[in-house]
Amino acid sequence: MLGLMQQRPLLISSLLDYAERYHAGREIVSRSVEGPLHRSNWGTIARRAKQVANLLQRLDVARGERIATLAWNHNRHLEIYFGVTCSGAVLHTVNPRLFPEQVRFIIDDAESSYMFFDVTFAALVEQLAPRLPNVRGYVALCAREAMPSIDVPNLLCYEDLLAAETGDHAWPSFDEDLASALCYTSGTTGNPKGVLQSHRSAVLHSLALMSADTMAISARESLLLCAPLFHVNCWGIPFAAAGTGAKLVLPGMKLDGASLFELIRDEAVTFCGAVPTVWLNLFAWMEANLNTTDQRGLKLRRVLSGGTAVPRVVIEKAHNYFGATMLHAWGMTEMSPLGTCGSLLAQHVGMNLDERMPVHLKQGRTIYGAEVRIVDDDGHELPRDGRSVGEIQVRGPWVLSGYFKGAGGKVVDEDGWFRTGDVAHMDADGFITITDRAKDVIKSGGEWISSIELENLAVSHPAVLEAAVVATRHPRWQERPLLLVHRKQGAEVSKEELLAFLSDKIAKWWLPDDVVFVEELPHTATGKVLKTRLREEYGDWLERPAGTTSR
Ligand code: ADP
Repeated sequence: MLGLMQQRPLLISSLLDYAERYHAGREIVSRSVEGPLHRSNWGTIARRAKQVANLLQRLDVARGERIATLAWNHNRHLEIYFGVTCSGAVLHTVNPRLFPEQVRFIIDDAESSYMFFDVTFAALVEQLAPRLPNVRGYVALCAREAMPSIDVPNLLCYEDLLAAETGDHAWPSFDEDLASALCYTSGTTGNPKGVLQSHRSAVLHSLALMSADTMAISARESLLLCAPLFHVNCWGIPFAAAGTGAKLVLPGMKLDGASLFELIRDEAVTFCGAVPTVWLNLFAWMEANLNTTDQRGLKLRRVLSGGTAVPRVVIEKAHNYFGATMLHAWGMTEMSPLGTCGSLLAQHVGMNLDERMPVHLKQGRTIYGAEVRIVDDDGHELPRDGRSVGEIQVRGPWVLSGYFKGAGGKVVDEDGWFRTGDVAHMDADGFITITDRAKDVIKSGGEWISSIELENLAVSHPAVLEAAVVATRHPRWQERPLLLVHRKQGAEVSKEELLAFLSDKIAKWWLPDDVVFVEELPHTATGKVLKTRLREEYGDWLERPAGTTSR
């Protein structure tokens, strides 16, 4: 017998309609590309999203057509988010930090028909345009007077185009399984691959972000979005924000400590999501410029971090400087991205920070809606005992079923399980601990050493800004860990001191064989340490003669 409930499609337009109807006055504050703060609200975003939809009609953009953006976190990008998806076209956010050739590949592979870009990327757009045959026009996100003088076909001015459109538009209804957004993985191995979300997956993922045991996004929150809008749709937060009427604070292109602190203080930010590097920069700025113990009166109460393992110092400083609790989350582009989130359980309530620390250091616990399991090399599920290490597999309504245009072939098994390439163990409560990415694991004498755990310990040393541990070849043990360290400006620490600092915290055979101090560590476009490059550069470190300049 079928239930007698209505079958209404789950569309992104329903989230925006809700914000417009009940939270029109709730603010959207952005740092504009031009510099000053720009104040808007959900009512204006919704009206301008409808102007965008009318513009797309005028430009003959068909349903399902991809519209590329190359833009920072600000109100114009947000209204394009909704204007494109709600009208049935596909939002294709492009990461401008990728190599130009990767940017070109991605836009070409997606066959995007229009490109909306910030003027800061004008030179890149001009460089790529001759090799983007599918792009019919380039829309500069600015007013007439700020138009860049570049030579690209059909260069258009966003504010002029919008001024010619009305804010009346009835959002169409369509199948909830239609595509809404296309995001590419960063392509650390091979070409980037497209992950194509649907309206249904985006709405279900949004509901997950609103729930109390994940991000608890609600009408009362002021959310500072430091994850880029071009990275997995800023972890899906803008859509969930619309469905609650939360205030949004968009930092534009300025993620430095001073700019972020100003927003946290002046916009009464209650929740902020950022990768650990952004947190470390903010704290370093606060230490240099403020009395950090004075800042606990600010409203920031919950911080979320993910993308790479969150070091203990980030958790401690968020607590000490703001009185904020860390939500350590894990996910990936292929899962929209949220898979786990470190909200506490009843047994953790009342614990002090030291007692809770082991919980915060884990990568969060499995949330309702994303099925997560750990399997061995033969694909058998491992016990949830907090010890058995294997690869994470996931499935669920916001996990991909295949990449765009079938790239990479069949990537889920018959039961829908997707192999993530992340190596972890899980405890009985569903908390996972990521020990490595499969390709970053260090195998010493047949035993695994967790590069992530060593890195976390190294950055908890006060002189260390950032650390990376990679495998180097070893004649006896096949591989041994090498620690690369970027010291804080003006800070001093020797190899011997660092090894002594680590030695009482880990098993003896985990101790890195050497420490190399570097000026900087290479990063991927999504802010992760580029381990492939480090392995190429330092894979033979222990084979080089000691005492030479290269060693
Ligand atoms: P890309 O792989 O393209 O850089 P993603 O954002 O999709 O971009 O990266 C997802 C990967 O990031 C995961 O597979 C995992 O390896 C890593 N990751 C994400 N969150 C965490 C975390 N909290 N701790 C450790 N690694 C993480």
